[in-house]
Amino acid sequence: MKEKSQDQKIVRMKPLIAANWKMNKDIAESKEFVNRLLKLVDNSSEIVLFASFTSLYILRTMLEHSRIKLGGQNMHSEEKGTYTGEVSASMLKDAGCEYVILGHSERRQYFHETDETINKKIKVALKNKLMPIVCVGETLEQRENSETESVVKNQLEKCLKGVKIKNVVIAYEPIWAIGTGKTATPEQAEEVHKFIKGMYKTRIIYGGSMKPENAKELLSMPDIDGGLVGGASLDAKSFAEICND
Ligand code: PEP
Repeated sequence: MKEKSQDQKIVRMKPLIAANWKMNKDIAESKEFVNRLLKLVDNSSEIVLFASFTSLYILRTMLEHSRIKLGGQNMHSEEKGTYTGEVSASMLKDAGCEYVILGHSERRQYFHETDETINKKIKVALKNKLMPIVCVGETLEQRENSETESVVKNQLEKCLKGVKIKNVVIAYEPIWAIGTGKTATPEQAEEVHKFIKGMYKTRIIYGGSMKPENAKELLSMPDIDGGLVGGASLDAKSFAEICND
């Protein structure tokens, strides 16, 4: 995403680089990662760590005087109540989160989350002043059938129905590139980002096997505003390399 400087030249915002640790790292491992990361990262990116729920609170204390922010990997669509095992938006906020990932393809696949549930969650997240990172993306079969744009458009229209886009980040995550080592080429990713930017004026980050070797090229594309990093975010050194690009 771009913003205008005082002399009206278009300048790029810092990229938003998000670490999605998924179901990895206990408290000791999370603390060790943050201690290493704080020594390695420079000031070139905005950084958010999506740690496990159990590590969030302790990381909040460790990150208090840093620029690194915290997020939850999921939350429930209701604000409170009889939902054993669930975590609410206000609980995430309370534990120090400013962001939440919603609609990740693993949640859609393994927990049967629909665009309608995601829409409800986005509204609750915004009400609780959490910035949602809303994930969309096509399967390999859909890409091969030239359905990428229609799939992404349909997901976004349903997920963002009645939502003010200003406080939402969109993550384009082609499912065939997540955890597979297959990255979309910068041109493939840019094409979809440009398409989404035509519909929604907000930050759009890319996710799918981003790593130090390909991050610089992906992040240099005009409509790629950052990255959602899974596997390569588990190691502080490789994550810092992506952030420092
Ligand atoms: C993700 O899960 O959001 C992701 C992008 O994972 P990976 O980087 O491992 O493909």
